[in-house]
Order: sequence, then C-alpha cells, then structure tokens
Amino acid sequence: MSQQQKQNDIHWLTGQFSDRQKEVSYRHSIESNVRSDARLALILASAIFAMFGITDYNLLGLTQEYYLLLAMRITVVSSCVAIAFIIGKAGGYADKAWLHALPLWIFAIGIILIVPLRPESLSTQVTSIAVAIVAFYLLIPNLLTVAALASAFVSITFLATAMIYAGVTAEGAVRIGLLLAMANIVGYSSLRRLERLQRQQYALLNEERDQNRELLQEIKHRKSLEAQLRMVAERDTLTGVDSRSYFMKRAQALLQRSRLEETPFCLFMIDVDHFKKINDTWGHTQGDVILTKIAEVCQHSLRPTDIIGRFGGEEFVVGLPHTSPNDATAVAERLKQGVEALSLDGEFKDLQLSVTIGVAVATPEDDLDTLITRADNRLYEGKRDGRNQVVTSS
Ligand code: GH3
Ligand code: MG
Ligand code: MG
Repeated sequence: MSQQQKQNDIHWLTGQFSDRQKEVSYRHSIESNVRSDARLALILASAIFAMFGITDYNLLGLTQEYYLLLAMRITVVSSCVAIAFIIGKAGGYADKAWLHALPLWIFAIGIILIVPLRPESLSTQVTSIAVAIVAFYLLIPNLLTVAALASAFVSITFLATAMIYAGVTAEGAVRIGLLLAMANIVGYSSLRRLERLQRQQYALLNEERDQNRELLQEIKHRKSLEAQLRMVAERDTLTGVDSRSYFMKRAQALLQRSRLEETPFCLFMIDVDHFKKINDTWGHTQGDVILTKIAEVCQHSLRPTDIIGRFGGEEFVVGLPHTSPNDATAVAERLKQGVEALSLDGEFKDLQLSVTIGVAVATPEDDLDTLITRADNRLYEGKRDGRNQVVTSS
C-alpha cells in the first residue's frame, strides 16, 4: 500500500480516516458547513421536541406531571437552542466534537424522562424513540461515533425505564428492542456510508489538488528550462552579446524593415588587432577576460536600437537601423576610441588595445550576406592600411 493510499484508508467501523492527521484536516475543511448545518438541525429538532408539549397537555391535563414535563421540555429546548447558537459561532468536529455531542445527550435524557411521567403513552413513545434515533444519526450532523453512542444510550435506557415504570414484560421488551435495534442499524449504516463517501470525495479532491500543484511546478520548471535554452541559443556565453545565429536573425529582420520603410541601415565588422599576441603573451584565459572587456566597450558605445553579435573569435558584428553612413562612421569612430581608451590595470597596464572596423552601408539590392562581405572587405582594407582605423564603403 502506498503512503497516499495508507493516508486515505477509512476505518470500517467509525467511517473516519485511519490517519489521524488526515482526519483532523478533513474535519477542519468541513467546519463552516458543519456549523451552519448543525445550528439549523438543532433548532428544528428543538422545535419538534417543544411541539410534543401539546401531546403532554392532551394526555395529562394541568397536572403535576404535566408541569414537570413542561419544565423539562423548556430546559431541554432552551439549552439546545443556546448550544445551537454557540455551535453556529464556534463549532467544528476537529476540537469540539463534545460540543456537538452535548445536545444529543440532553435530548436523550429528556426523552427518557417522559417514560416515568407519561407511562400510559408508551406505544407513541416507542415510535418517537425510533424516529429520534434516526434523527440522531441523520438529521443532526455529528460524527458517527458520537451519534452511535447517544443512540445506544437512548435505546438501552428507554428499554430499562419502560420495564421499570411502564410495566413492559420481557416479551414486550424484546419486541421494542428489535425495533430500536433496527432503527440503530438503519441510522448507523446510512451515516457510515455518508461519512465514507464524504471522506473519499475529500481524498480525491486533495489528490487532484496535489497533482495540479505538481503540474504547475513542472510547468514552472519547464518554462525556466526553456528560458535557459533560449538564453544559450541567443547569447554568446563568453561576452554576453548576441550569438552569431541570433544576430543574423535580428539583422535580417531589421534590414528587411529598413528596405520596406526606405530608411538607412549600416553594418560594422569589428576585429581586434593583434589579438593572437595577447593570447600568446598572457594565455587564453586572460585573452578571454580582455575580449569580454572589449565587448563591453562596444556595447556601451551603441544605442539601444543597435544590435551587436559575436561573429566568431575576436570578431564582432554590429547592425545599425535608421543610421546614415555619416552617423555610422561617427559611431564606429567613437567605438574605436573607446577601445583605445580602455584602461587596464595590473600586468596589462602597458597593453594598448585597438580594433579595426569595416563599415558597410546597405543599398536596396543588398542581402545580409552581401552586406557582411562588403563590411569584411573594408575591414581587411583597414588591416592592410595599418589597423586601428574605421573604413567606410563609399
Ligand atoms: P589581426 O586581426 O590584427 O590581423 O591579428 P590577430 O592576431 O587578431 O589575427 P588572427 O585572426 O590571426 O587571430 C585571432 C586570434 O584570436 C586567434 C585566436 O587564438 C584568438 N581567439 C579567437 N577566439 C578566441 C577566444 O574566444 N578567446 C581567446 N582568448 N582568443 C580567441
Ligand atoms: Mg580575426
Ligand atoms: Mg584580429
């Protein structure tokens, strides 16, 4: 049996969860319903009990017994109504099962007291006792154990008082006993079934809730994985700029849009000068650190609408929408100067960094590859001409 099944196990006799914790949380979950249902049922039961005062008067007239019965009925009804209101405010089976049991015992004692005061009406009383037993189980909300105990008490004490005060013979007692047993069995079985069904429903609902929670957790996990995957696909892990493929996708869209809107579009190819020497002197790891710093300077020299990607190795590519050739050259110059001015400390204090930039201006016929090739050609012209410069296509 799994842990879950064990928790959902319902005791065959009491109709309650075998797991104490589960039973307590179930009782808490039904608390507000139990309060209003019990209040209503108790008021109803009290009204019925009070109405039997009419029968008392018909049978007894204004005798001493009648007044005793009247006093008893007033006590029972007023205390049960008071308890009904207390339950309505603060009831619940989780920690006040005794409060719900109390009115059953008050009714039970009241019903039993009728026997010695009105012994000649025994046959009517047998019927009302049987109805009362069913009401204990089914009308007034209570735990099965509470209802069963109070009903057993009423049945046994009624039989005993009937034999003592109403002269019921052993044979008659058996007949009445059978009737009361039947009422008890019907009430007990019905309430047990109800208790089981309600708890099964609660267990199912909880299971469904747990599954939903797990599902939500799973969705959250997947979403975060998806975001991570997207990040890996879209970002260059070393420098944090766009990956080559993501840059190409974005640049393609921007180029297409500039063509449709007939606005200018420019593209840079940036290559770090003599980067191999840096790697050879300080090692690849330090080379990575410097490359990251250069990427940072490049990013800061651009506007939010510009895009930058790592084209490969120590080469970066920049797309500038809505930018005229003059403005693009100015941005490239600023970027080049930014790298030159990059102040490094420690062992790199004397290192003079520089980049060469090739700028290409898009014509209406250009596709992205043509534009990149043109920028690349300008870049190599710059390299040939001594590096650390910006070359713009005419
Ligand atoms: P120039 O461009 O000025 O002609 O000289 P260069 O030395 O930069 O030229 P080249 O393209 O031959 O060398 C680029 C070097 O960049 C080679 C490679 O070791 C280094 N490189 C490429 N990718 C990385 C990287 O991710 N990290 C580091 N540290 N070095 C890289
Ligand atoms: Mg290179
Ligand atoms: Mg280089």
